[in-house]
Amino acid sequence: MSIIVIGSGITGSNVALSLLEKGEQVELWDFGKKENLDTVNNENFRDFKKNLNESVESLIGKENKQFPNPSTQKLFEIPPLRNFLLNNIEIDNEINELNNFDIYQSFNEGGIANGWGANCIPYNEDEIGDWNIDTSKFYSSQKKIFNELNVSQINDKINEKFSISNFGNENPINLDEKDNYFLKNFTNNYNFFSKENFEVGKARLAIKNSNTNDSCRLTSRCLWGCPQNAIYNPLYSTLKKCKTYKDFKYLENRKVSYFNLKDSKINEIVYFEKNIEKKNKINSKVFLCAGAIQSGIIFNKTCKKNNLKINNFKTGLMDTKQTKIVYFFPKMLDKKINYKSIQFNRLVGAMKERYDDKNEYIHLEFLHLNSLFYQPLINNLPLPLRLSKNIFYSMYSALGICTYFLPDSLDEKNKIKLNNDETIEINYTESNEKLLLDKKIEKRIKKYLLKMSAIPIKTIRYKSGSAIHYAGTIPMGNNDKFAVNTNGQVKFINNLIIADASIIPRLSSKPISINAATLGDYFVQKNT
Ligand SMILES: Cc1cc2nc3c(=O)[nH]c(=O)nc-3n(C[C@H](O)[C@H](O)[C@H](O)COP(=O)(O)OP(=O)(O)OC[C@H]3O[C@@H](n4cnc5c(N)ncnc54)[C@H](O)[C@@H]3O)c2cc1C
Repeated sequence: MSIIVIGSGITGSNVALSLLEKGEQVELWDFGKKENLDTVNNENFRDFKKNLNESVESLIGKENKQFPNPSTQKLFEIPPLRNFLLNNIEIDNEINELNNFDIYQSFNEGGIANGWGANCIPYNEDEIGDWNIDTSKFYSSQKKIFNELNVSQINDKINEKFSISNFGNENPINLDEKDNYFLKNFTNNYNFFSKENFEVGKARLAIKNSNTNDSCRLTSRCLWGCPQNAIYNPLYSTLKKCKTYKDFKYLENRKVSYFNLKDSKINEIVYFEKNIEKKNKINSKVFLCAGAIQSGIIFNKTCKKNNLKINNFKTGLMDTKQTKIVYFFPKMLDKKINYKSIQFNRLVGAMKERYDDKNEYIHLEFLHLNSLFYQPLINNLPLPLRLSKNIFYSMYSALGICTYFLPDSLDEKNKIKLNNDETIEINYTESNEKLLLDKKIEKRIKKYLLKMSAIPIKTIRYKSGSAIHYAGTIPMGNNDKFAVNTNGQVKFINNLIIADASIIPRLSSKPISINAATLGDYFVQKNT
């Protein structure tokens, strides 16, 4: 009998592969949209632009999708031609009231990881210590998943000072002149930073980098879709592996709505196939991996349709709020831009802060810009075009962006709400403690930037939800208040295992995805 996995994102595809490796038959049910990106060739950004037609199609889009708007917050993140995320209309169809929560969702094969930033830091005792899980088994899952995602193996002071294991098997990524200058200034002031318990090191990125044919070639085209597929994307690696097993079936066009229960088991999955409601009787285990928001919605609907009172259980919604500080390195003015470089942040930082009665790890990313479309920004300067361009390019080699992420904890007020009329509402407000933590970290980072001869010029705050590290919609715990036990098993639905970030009961500021996939693998080991 096939085990059913719902969702093909980082979590679902890794759960499916782990099940197959254990000899199980697997059916993966997925909404399964496709992006069909055409990267054309694997030339470097600079050379690629020389062929106007090809580069316009591949970087801007066949349908003239235009340049990003200078005011959009996504300018440095997701080019408008990428369409692996639901657009505003599709989000409105899914969630009736967002209440100012910025939400990013994907119904694609591979999920949101079709265009993620690939940062990985493993959870350790600080995060999982009070989860009542088998830490040595979790550690084995971490090792396996870090290798599956091709994370670079780094040994530096971040490992040493913050008890971070050096998982991963790829070579560290290359730094550019600005990264090296930043690191040099950090090292020159190391006594100061060491006392402050602040560390900087190379980013641990899920990018293949070992001189194989499919390794990173530094094309500087990461955001438009890596022409080598060197950035981990379940579509080109884990799912591809799953599809080599004869016991694996990928069923697309299935949008799961809820489960019908009988004798404390799922006996029917209700889903939509091309907008037509269908029901399938089942008698097997189900691993729910539709992403923290969608899994939360499916769970809410299941409770409602089966007359189970959701308010009897702890539910929630968390995200690692992000804030960006733009800084300026006078020494880097007029330096050449390196177009043979990874487009993502190549440096990360680590420090600790007190939050909700715990010393929490604070994850920072430092981005020194290279290839992007700056035309919209240049056009927006109130000067003649050529002058604007010259000023911009001499400035931009000296610009950097530090993004920091905040931890989160469960709060009664923050949750996905299914109303009586079946409309879905997101309720989320930031606590005062979180707002204070944000200010405290901003102050520390600005002080550190100045110490490294960088001038902080602007702090950009984002709406809640925009960090896209959603978690805790069906949190686990052994106490009766929690619907799911620490093996991922729903206590009153014997054949349902929640195996994505929905289950995480407290959210670290560390990048979530690899840790959620690790939990997924851990639950496979525990439930088969
Ligand atoms: C620009 C950007 C940068 C990011 N950078 C990082 C980073 O550096 N590090 C990090 O850790 N994270 C990062 N993230 C977040 C990361 O991408 C997500 O946390 C991760 O991909 C979520 O994986 P998932 O498997 O839990 O869910 P998803 O990726 O959301 O996958 C859900 C899957 O379930 C399917 N599905 C959904 N609903 C249903 C349904 N009802 N029925 C059937 N199938 C369904 C979808 O088709 C999809 O296949 C970033 C995200 C973005 C957008």
